[in-house]
Amino acid sequence: MTQTPPSTIELDRLRPPGSKRSGKREFILNVFLRHEGHLSADDLVELIHREDGRISRATVYRALQWMVEAGIARKVDFGEGRFRFEHSYRHPRHFHLICKTCNRSFEFLSSDIEALIEEVAAARSFSARQSVLQIYGTCEECRTGRPAPTEPVTTELLFARDALRIAIATERSGLEFYSRAAEMTRNARGRTVFQNLAEEERSHLSTLENRYQRLLAQDPRLESRPTFLFFKGAANGLFAAGAEQIARGGVNDRQALMLGIRCEKASHRFFKRYAEKFEDSEGKQVFLEFASEERAHLELLIREYRALTRRRQAPARRRTGRASRAHA
Ligand SMILES: [Zn+2]
Ligand SMILES: [Zn+2]
Repeated sequence: MTQTPPSTIELDRLRPPGSKRSGKREFILNVFLRHEGHLSADDLVELIHREDGRISRATVYRALQWMVEAGIARKVDFGEGRFRFEHSYRHPRHFHLICKTCNRSFEFLSSDIEALIEEVAAARSFSARQSVLQIYGTCEECRTGRPAPTEPVTTELLFARDALRIAIATERSGLEFYSRAAEMTRNARGRTVFQNLAEEERSHLSTLENRYQRLLAQDPRLESRPTFLFFKGAANGLFAAGAEQIARGGVNDRQALMLGIRCEKASHRFFKRYAEKFEDSEGKQVFLEFASEERAHLELLIREYRALTRRRQAPARRRTGRASRAHA
C-alpha cells in the first residue's frame, strides 16, 4: 500500500542534528515511505533495486538504522527470525493480527486492552515501558478466498476516522444526558444551564460530523474498512451511566449538576491521557480538541454548582445577620 510521504519541511525536522543530506538516503527514505506495511530489510533492498541497482545492501541497512533513530521507522518482530520495519511518523503504536498463510499483518488498537495492561502493571507495581500484542492465525481473505479492498489507505486516516467516530458517539451521549437533565430540572436557572450545554453538544456534534464527511471524501471506501481503534468501554460508559441515572428519576438540580461534573471530568481526563500517548496525528488532534471541550463544560458546571450552593446559603446568611457575614 502506498501513502503520500511527509513534506520535505517535516522531514527536515525529523533529521537528527549533524546528519548530512544524502541523495541515496533521501531516495531510500522516499521508497520506504511510499510503502505502508511491514517490510523486512531485504524487502526494502528488493524495492530499491527495482528502481536503482547501484545502491548497496549495506547502504539500505544503514539508512534503515538512521530512520529508526530519527523516529521515522519502527522495528517490529513477528517471530520470523528477522525484524520488519513500519512507519512510525504520524503512525501510533498498535497491535498486530498476523496471518500465517499469506504472512501479511493487520493493525489495530484497543483502549480496553490498553487499560487492562495498565491495570495489571499497576497491580504488580511494574513500570511498563512498552507492550506488544500479536494475534497469529488466518486472515479473512485466506480463509474465504474473498479479496479484501487493497486500494491505498493509511493507518493515519483509519485512526482519524475511528477517533472521530468515538468523539461523535461520546458527544451524542453527552447530548442525551443534558437534554434529559434539562427536562427534569425544575429550577429555571438550572434548566437554562442544561439547555445551553445540550445546545453546545449539538453544535459540536455537527462540527464533528462535517469533519467526518470531509475525511470520507479522501477515500470513498473509508467507512467499510476494518476498525483500527476498538473503544468499547469508554464510549459506552462515560455519559451513558449518568443519562441512565437521570432517566430513572428522583435526581434534583444539585445532583444533576454533580452527575454532569463527574461525567465531564472522567471524559476530559480519559481523552487527554489517551491522546498524550499518540504520536502527532489527526486522530490525536481530534482527541485533544475533544478533551479541551470537555474541560470547558466541566468548568461551566463547577461555576454553576458553586452559584447554586451560594444561592442556597444566602437566605440563611441574611437571617443570621452582620456578625456571621463578616466571617463569610
Ligand atoms: Zn492471509
Ligand atoms: Zn504495524
